[in-house]
Amino acid sequence: MRLKDKVAIVTGGGRGIGETTCIRFAEEGAKVVVADMNEADIQIVVEKIKQMGGEAVGMKVDVTDGVLVEKMIAETVTKYGKLDILVNNAGITADGKLVKMTEEQWDKVINVNLKGVFICGQAAAKVMSEQGYGVILNASSIVGIYGNFGQTNYAATKWGVIGMAKTWAKELGPKGIRVNAVAPGFIMTPMTEKMPEKVLDMMKDKSPLKTLGYPEDIANAYVYLASDEAKFVTGTVLSVDGGVVL
Ligand code: NAP
Repeated sequence: MRLKDKVAIVTGGGRGIGETTCIRFAEEGAKVVVADMNEADIQIVVEKIKQMGGEAVGMKVDVTDGVLVEKMIAETVTKYGKLDILVNNAGITADGKLVKMTEEQWDKVINVNLKGVFICGQAAAKVMSEQGYGVILNASSIVGIYGNFGQTNYAATKWGVIGMAKTWAKELGPKGIRVNAVAPGFIMTPMTEKMPEKVLDMMKDKSPLKTLGYPEDIANAYVYLASDEAKFVTGTVLSVDGGVVL
């Protein structure tokens, strides 16, 4: 088991990539905090993990709420005695072409994808710095690196979390904390299932592997980066995109 007895918080853990990451972490022996806004989704994931014989607890949290995030971190440490891993996975989209994008769309996405990552990362870093160890992983996207039609707000946030990962790697490395980002390509989740079939077919065709990605492809990257196998890896961005941008 690659994460035996590690304590991990996965934000947005109720569905999609977050759900699969929670399950993969539990399979690898981690005690998992499933942190999400949707209570029903949280309970389903916690139950799945318990049925596999794993350890998990659900926490209802909005990552943009600093008070709730501090409470989540404190409750995790009270329950499990430490915090080894934070996966900043929660993220949203609110697409629109530049000339049509409203300030509301901009603020909404910046708030969750950028400010939420800052709030959770800062709260986790305080505990991890005191412990002298920890891993923080930020969910970026190929869209953050290469841009995407209609996603000014989303692209800005996904580039932004790479900047945060690199900055935190420098600031927190001396305290024994590693920080990395993962940049998924198009992954079949509730977020992408609403995209037109035509676009998904186009993405599939662009990949040299002629396939889309699945949540386990990203969860497996998180497992590696969270594990001690990656003990010399920090401040990097791991693209998991089927070569779609080659
Ligand atoms: P998803 O299926 O939409 O799931 C996102 C989860 O985050 C949902 O459970 C959602 O809860 C939760 N969430 C949203 N806002 C939140 C908040 N303020 N506080 C706490 N939880 C919140 O997304 P996904 O496709 O799995 O994507 C996961 C991450 O990977 C995102 O950061 C996304 O940008 C990134 N990513 C995805 C892809 C892809 O192709 N799918 C590609 C590149 C990067 P609700 O159910 O309440 O909304």
